[in-house]
Amino acid sequence: MSKVNIFRQSCKGVDDCGICKFVCPQDLFQACQEMNAAGYFPPEIKDESQCTGCRNCMVYCPDFAIWVEKTDDQPAEEDEDKNAG
Ligand code: SF4
Ligand code: SF4
Repeated sequence: MSKVNIFRQSCKGVDDCGICKFVCPQDLFQACQEMNAAGYFPPEIKDESQCTGCRNCMVYCPDFAIWVEKTDDQPAEEDEDKNAG
């Protein structure tokens, strides 16, 4: 089980960006009804219980507006520091 945190104020909106919606293999993203301060409609998760924790959404969001947390007992992967620039 994973928790998908969406930082609504950092998002450019599902209609204007929508990369998270495109890359989610579970098709869990939809635009929410509430506009953020910048005038965009950020995504919300339809059914978080269906999230596999693949982290595609987090990796591909250009605005770092998504953070996926593992909430089960799986050991956290310690990623190598791969700063590419
Ligand atoms: S972690 Fe993967 S399955 Fe979960 S919401 Fe993101 S893209 Fe979808
Ligand atoms: S990829 Fe990021 S910026 Fe784009 S719609 Fe999703 S949360 Fe918003």
